Amino acid sequence: MTEVKKEKKKLGLSTKIFIALIVGALAGVVIHYVIPDSNFKNEFIVEGVLYVIGQGFIRLMQMLVVPLVFCSLVCGSMAIGDTKTLGKVGIKTVGFYIATTALAVTIALSVAYLINPGIGLNMDAVEKSEVAAATSSTSIVDTLLNIIPKNPIGAMASGDMLPIIVFALFVGIMLAKLGSKASTVANFFSQFNDVMMEMTMAIMSIAPIGVFCLIARTFATVGFSAFAPMLKYMGSVTLALVLQCFVVYQVLLFIFTRLNPIKFIKKFLPVMGFAFSTATSNATIPMSIDTLNKKMGVSKQISSFTVPLGATINMDGTSIMQGVAVVFIAQVYGIDLTIGNLATVVLTATLASIGTAGVPSVGLVTLAMVLNSVGLPTEGIALIMGIDRILDMLRTAVNITGDAVCTTIVAHQEKAIKKDIFNAS
Ligand code: ASP
Repeated sequence: MTEVKKEKKKLGLSTKIFIALIVGALAGVVIHYVIPDSNFKNEFIVEGVLYVIGQGFIRLMQMLVVPLVFCSLVCGSMAIGDTKTLGKVGIKTVGFYIATTALAVTIALSVAYLINPGIGLNMDAVEKSEVAAATSSTSIVDTLLNIIPKNPIGAMASGDMLPIIVFALFVGIMLAKLGSKASTVANFFSQFNDVMMEMTMAIMSIAPIGVFCLIARTFATVGFSAFAPMLKYMGSVTLALVLQCFVVYQVLLFIFTRLNPIKFIKKFLPVMGFAFSTATSNATIPMSIDTLNKKMGVSKQISSFTVPLGATINMDGTSIMQGVAVVFIAQVYGIDLTIGNLATVVLTATLASIGTAGVPSVGLVTLAMVLNSVGLPTEGIALIMGIDRILDMLRTAVNITGDAVCTTIVAHQEKAIKKDIFNAS
């Protein structure tokens, strides 16, 4: 009875998040076009109320990420216990993540060459932004070494996801090995994990308000005038994102699990809406784990590992933007790309996806690395910066959907999914 009640309440929340998305976007457009410019509008409404509530909400979610990921990973790896199964799950997950990213870039390049977004562009109409300070690039060797934390507390303090994952897995495996000798510590983590999940639910209950403010502020600030000359570019990115999200992922889901893709999309849509409004994969981790568990029956043992890992290394949406941006910038500058160049783009955009953190706008920074790899001018980034926020929102929704699809497939293969929950309406 209480279960049913709870379920009803949850459905209510999803619907509320959607209403907030739509009403927020409309409110933003009204603020931008209807309310005349004034201190009240700019300082009080847009940069005051909307900014404070929206950012406050994101911060509440971010507050949970490190402790939640750490505890749930410790519990997950402890429950799986043996390193063999963990290794199998790890290899499968990483393999799937890399393969879908490479596929995503290929789709992006194909769509871009179909639409040719940079040809015939009136450069004067484009709003150029200052390119951010040079990107700090770390070598591949260092990136790999950085996975091992010198100081796990330091990694947690700075929110470095990969070292946190490594340390948590290690702790969990050791707890499993020690068994009853370490039961106090094991219980502590499992209870702390419950506390974090309760906090997630409490914070999610105000998600509609947070989502409304975030979306309203974005639309109130950007308006549509910057979009016009960039429509072909934005259209190309959006088309490739839609193909990846609603065709590629769903076909993969069906082939590997025989689960109903429509059900998956329906149940996962609120998480996409959340990622869309916040433009950060990291902040979406708690909601994603919760939704996969409660609505789709995916065991937290799997999702607590694959979702944070995906939010860190799997950015299919971001690599799609980068693939299209490469073609766009090459066309604007009149540079021809060879087949070899395109293969390099697939490779570097896949690596960039691993190196992109799940926070807003980082995809633009790692784009510099992809442009460099084929000798395109990084100044080209200035052309797309002005309109990137909206695309960032869209690609983040795709980024986290890729993680969830992979999680569901891996959970299915590990027999860690309750199909009755997935199929329940
Ligand atoms: N905002 C994206 C994410 O968090 C990263 C990016 O593409 O900038 O997934």
